[in-house]
Order: sequence, then C-alpha cells, then structure tokens
Amino acid sequence: MKTLQNHIAGVWEDSRSGAFQDLVNPATEEVVARCPVGCAEDVCRAVDAAVAAHTSWEALPLTERIDLLNRWADAVTEHAAELAELECQEMGKPVGLGQMFIESAALGLRASASQALEYEFEETVPGPGGSNTRIVRRSLGAVAVITPWNFPVPMVLGALGPLLTAGNTVVVKPSERAPMAVTRLFELAGLPAGVANLVLGDVRAGAPLVQSEPVQLVHFTGSVAAGRSVGAETGRLLHRSVLELGGKDPVVIDADVDPEQTAAAVAFGAFVNSGQICTSMERIYVHRAIAQPFIEALVSATAAQTLGDGHDDRTVLGPLVDQRQRDIVHHHVTDAAERGAEVLIGGTVPDGKGFFYPATVLTGVDDTMLVMTQETFGPVAPVMIVDSFEDGLRHASRSRFGLAATVYTNNPDHIAAAERLPAGVVWVNQWQGGGPERLYEPAGDSGMGATGSRAAYDAATRPVSVHLAHRAQPAEQGTGR
Ligand code: NAD
Repeated sequence: MKTLQNHIAGVWEDSRSGAFQDLVNPATEEVVARCPVGCAEDVCRAVDAAVAAHTSWEALPLTERIDLLNRWADAVTEHAAELAELECQEMGKPVGLGQMFIESAALGLRASASQALEYEFEETVPGPGGSNTRIVRRSLGAVAVITPWNFPVPMVLGALGPLLTAGNTVVVKPSERAPMAVTRLFELAGLPAGVANLVLGDVRAGAPLVQSEPVQLVHFTGSVAAGRSVGAETGRLLHRSVLELGGKDPVVIDADVDPEQTAAAVAFGAFVNSGQICTSMERIYVHRAIAQPFIEALVSATAAQTLGDGHDDRTVLGPLVDQRQRDIVHHHVTDAAERGAEVLIGGTVPDGKGFFYPATVLTGVDDTMLVMTQETFGPVAPVMIVDSFEDGLRHASRSRFGLAATVYTNNPDHIAAAERLPAGVVWVNQWQGGGPERLYEPAGDSGMGATGSRAAYDAATRPVSVHLAHRAQPAEQGTGR
C-alpha cells in the first residue's frame, strides 16, 4: 500500500504533521493508500518554495513555459490509463470514462497554453495630447489551487494551464478524498523545482493555504459552503479569488422535441460519473405534451445504467465517492418520497460492500424538496411536469445556484427566452459543449470569477499601466496621477 507525500521545492517529503488518514476504495471499502494530513507548516514551506521559484519561472520566455507544459501534457496522455486506474481506486470512476476525461484534459492543457500566444500581455492605448499608455499584464506570483475529488486530474490541469503559462507558480491542494492520481500527475510534471508544489490533506491544509499572506490568488473549486469560507478569508486579506462552486442545474424540455432522444440525453447528463459533476442535470422540467413518452424512455434508459466496479467493462455507474456522499444522495431521495414524490426506478441502497447507489428517477417532485433545492451530486433525475416551456423556464430560474442550464426546443423564440436563464452557460439541444474560446462565469451561489480563454489569462495576471507623456513635463505641471 502506498504512502503518499507532499512535493515541495522539487522534493518529495512527509508532512510535518506526522499524521495520516486511510484512503478507501469506494467499490471495495479496502484501504488503498495512506494520505498525509497536511498542516500549516507544510503550506508555509510550499508557499515559500512557490514564491522563490516565481522570478525565474516568470523570466523564462513564454515559448519555453509552453514547451514545458506541452511535455507535461504528452506525459499525461502517455500515462492516461494509469492515471484513470488511480482515479478508479480512489473515487470509483469507471476506468474508460476516467481515461477519456484525462486525455481530454491533456488536450485542454495544450490548448490553454497555446492560447497565451494570442493573448495580449502588452498593449498600447492612446492618451490625450499624443501621449500613450502601455498596459503590461504581469503574472501574480504564488497562487493557491484547491480542487475537489470528482475529476481529480482534469480539475488540476484545467486550473494550472493558464496560471503556469502566464508565469505564476502554484501550490496545489487536491481533495483529501482523491489524492492518488494527482500525486502521480505531479511525478510526471517535469517542471523546475518550486514551480508546482503539492500539499496533501484536508481543510487543515486548505485553510492555512487560503490564509497565507504571500498567496496572490486563490483558485478554488468545490462546494458552496467551503467556497463561502474561502471567499470570506480572501476578502479579509484583500486577496484575489476565483470560486467555482456547486450547482443544481435545470433542464427544460419543450413539447416539440423527440421524447426518446431527449430522454437518452438526460439519462447521460444526470447519471454520467454517477451524477457527480457540478453541471449534472439535477432538475428536469418536461412539457406535459410529451411527458409520458419522455418519462417512459427515461426509465428504460435508467434501467440500462449498470452499477459496478469501475474496472469492469460492463459498468456504466461506479460507486459514489464515499459513505458520506451516498448518505446525502439517499437522504434527498427519501425526503422527496416522504413528501409525496414517486420513485419510478432506483432509490434503494444496495446490499454488500461499496458505496453504490442506483440510477434513480423521481416524479411528482416540487420546489419544497431537498432534491429540487440542494445539490444532490448523485445519480438522481427528479422530473417535474410543466404546462408550458415558459413555465419550465420560471421553475428553472428559481434557484440560488447558477452554473449551467440546458434546454431542448426547436422554437427560436424559446431559445431566445432561454438565454435569460440565470446561469453561466446555457446549452441548447446538447448538454456540455463549446470550444476553448468559451467564456464562462457562474451566477448566484455557484461562484464568481470568469474563466475560459482570455478571461483565464485576465485572472492569472495583473495589469500595470505605464503612462508615457509625449515629452517630459516640467515638474510643476504634473498632475500627481
Ligand atoms: P469541498 O468544498 O468539500 O472540497 C473542495 C476542496 O476544498 C477540497 O480540496 C477540500 O479539502 C478543500 N476545502 C474544504 N473546506 C475548505 C476551507 N474552508 N478552506 C480551504 N479549503 C477547503 O467539495 P468536494 O466535496 O471536494 O467537491 C464537490 C463540490 O465541488 C460540489 O459542490 C461540486 O459541484 C463542486 N465542483 C464545482 C466545479 C465547478 O467548476 N464549478 C467543478 C467540480 C466540482
């Protein structure tokens, strides 16, 4: 069994806390690794290493930083199966699914690094009287990156691409529930010492990292509750933050779409990764005119979601990450059932080892139920029948969350109306999608700070304006600004 370590200033080392916690395979409940419980001292050393490495990393020509990150992306692609195997052991994701997402994250790393070649790190804007202002965007320095467990490797690579390419150095604290694949990811990194540091552990490492004085930006991905606490700390310290938080994404299905095809798309959007995606379809509003065939098709697509160990090729749904997550999911389902919802399929905790939960479809849900108001983060599709598309949009808008929303409709007026949904992304007739140029900022409680494409480089840099008067001004005429 492997004992994991921190990676600080290019060296693998034990946590100064001396404490460990066992990491359990959610399919078998067997211990698969020991993870250090990182502490403030580890964080302090890692941040110092990132600060020390910043000047020389930032001074490298941009193309050299891009080359190094491309080499890391190559190594990730080469080892994608191995990384996916580790993700399967630590959080249950089926190996094939994990490998696909990891390969795509490696492509994403390449794409985001090469976007820097188009980014205007310097521009000149004209001022009055022939003067001009040069705007130079510089890297920030040491950046904290805190990630969740649902996509261990892609979450880290997605955040690091623009941050490192722009010249920042980082301290990464992955989830304590999934540190194995990220550890291997760092073994493959091949970056100069101190550029990317890794501290393992839970909030006892995460909180000191957020509170660390030299950290210039906290890039946080996780739950709304933890995000609030991170935002409060960064506000107190007047440090920058990007907060990518939870969701309760709606789907609105119009009367004019094919009910079977749409049901297949919803079964995928609600159940893939066992529903543990921030943009999973978590509230489904279907037009009464097609509700019956849609629900029948959804139930039969749900029956095909084979539950099992992620190593088995037949598995569609792996286990949930742990007992705690399964308890939350089952609590949402039983709460709905107690308040009058009907469980059409699923909804029971299977016997035996592992934190499995079957794909579940509910109908007769309403806005008082946890399953319609709180993030479930499990394979549950609660369906509400609505009398019109507009009615569906009204329900869809009633949420404090605002990550993404999906609509299925062929009506151009309805597409235009859907653009007003309070969400960072509105997907029309396809869940997910959009290229690397996509700009994205969550709404409501789902977070703050735009990411994607140019916005990611804006967040990873700080502009300095250098104003050049067209000739030297006599001292007494200076404006003082
Ligand atoms: P979590 O908030 O429990 O933990 C996320 C990370 O934050 C972990 O590394 C954890 O150790 C750390 N952490 C927790 N409290 C902290 C604190 N006070 N200070 C500093 N660090 C702290 O979330 P989770 O259960 O790991 O992940 C699931 C959540 O992440 C879901 O809500 C999901 O929607 C969200 N998520 C959002 C996105 C997005 O892009 N918006 C993507 C993936 C997951």
